[in-house]
Amino acid sequence: MKTAWEKYDDQKMAALRKFNEGYKKFISECKTERECVVESIRIAESYGYTDLRNWIQEGKQLQAGDKVYINNMGKALVLFHIGKQPLEMGLNILGAHIDSPRLDLKQHPVYEDKNLCFLKTHYYGGIKKYQWVTLPLALHGVVVKKDGTMVQVVIGEDENDPVVGITDLLPHLAREQMTKPASKVIEGEELNVTFGSIPLKDEEKDAVKANVLRILKERYDIEEDDFISAEIEVVPAGKARDYGLDRGLIMGYGQDDRVCAYTSLMALLDTETIDKTCCALLVDKEEVGSIGATGMHSKFFENALVELLELAGGYSEIRLRRLFEHTDMLSSDVSAGFDPTFASVNEPSNSAYIGGGMCINKYTGSGGKGGCNDANPEFIARIRQAFDKHDITFQTSELGRVDAGGGGTIAYIMAAYNMNVIDAGVAVLSMHAPWEITSHVDVYETYRGYRAFLEEM
Ligand code: MN
Ligand code: MN
Repeated sequence: MKTAWEKYDDQKMAALRKFNEGYKKFISECKTERECVVESIRIAESYGYTDLRNWIQEGKQLQAGDKVYINNMGKALVLFHIGKQPLEMGLNILGAHIDSPRLDLKQHPVYEDKNLCFLKTHYYGGIKKYQWVTLPLALHGVVVKKDGTMVQVVIGEDENDPVVGITDLLPHLAREQMTKPASKVIEGEELNVTFGSIPLKDEEKDAVKANVLRILKERYDIEEDDFISAEIEVVPAGKARDYGLDRGLIMGYGQDDRVCAYTSLMALLDTETIDKTCCALLVDKEEVGSIGATGMHSKFFENALVELLELAGGYSEIRLRRLFEHTDMLSSDVSAGFDPTFASVNEPSNSAYIGGGMCINKYTGSGGKGGCNDANPEFIARIRQAFDKHDITFQTSELGRVDAGGGGTIAYIMAAYNMNVIDAGVAVLSMHAPWEITSHVDVYETYRGYRAFLEEM
């Protein structure tokens, strides 16, 4: 079976390695949607992007070549590169999500039991709960104090920092546990993070808890009550690494969907020659149904377009509707990589293979395409032409065998605006596990494919 590696000479390999060093750094440092937004803005500003809200305030008109972004509540981000054509001729959009499966701290997380202090969690997204025990974990997030001050929390990433984690039962006493189905081996309320074990001297009650609260106060100037207005995510501790002796793969947390978020962002930033206005959309809450103000179902994207139109010739309802109708979008999301160890869930002719290049899913859904966006062949034909022109290695796949299960992305939400949308991204092994696996060459071909889409469509 041919892979994308075959066409890589020394020069192309150097470009691939350089790009993916940037990618590994991004996913090593950005483990929450908020961290992704901050870092994406930092990178975008270094490419000359500025905050659209400043343009709105100054009433400055947008021209071809202008580059702007709009940050939605620190958890979603839209970036635009204004093209030569009027906006009602439509956009080329790359849309990815920056939330990933994890454990969230509850609002009253801290408790003590038998001289140990723990944090209660509520898992976020589709996880196999048993995968999250006995791993080094880190805490990332924000605490907003009553006076509005926001405190950034990261515990467990610096090599001199302690890590936290979740314990599991020893096999010697796991006779009953080992007879349970995998969904029950570790249950939701057993995902308790060990947080401390040294009592505070001269403290009568819950002395261990008192001691960790003292450390939190010293390190972050926060109180126990401040957890009520906090968003703290429990994620795997440590950096993304090359995987396999030949360094062909990448192991990292949150690659669904930060691999498509980073490649979409960089594709937009690196693409200079554009005709239509290009857009990268990085959204939150995909893993739990795209709901809420920062998820794709929110009106924030539409609002951003209204502002954009207003500053580029004047807003009108019909200009907005025409913009939607003429827009093409790649729903930048990952697909299930074919794993030979679990071959039976895939149908070999319509699977995404590791090293096979960028992966296109005409439709996702489950049980007879239920809930899917089914892309039009006229649209796919145009994409094939763009990809062939830029020598992109790509493959098409379904998310597993018919009736094996299924899944979805933000594609159907955008398609409801009457635009052309198709899923396109990177194949992943061990998807939704604490450490997910992608191929270096698939990541780079996807970045190249996104650029081809922005330039040619
Ligand atoms: Mn995804
Ligand atoms: Mn997912």
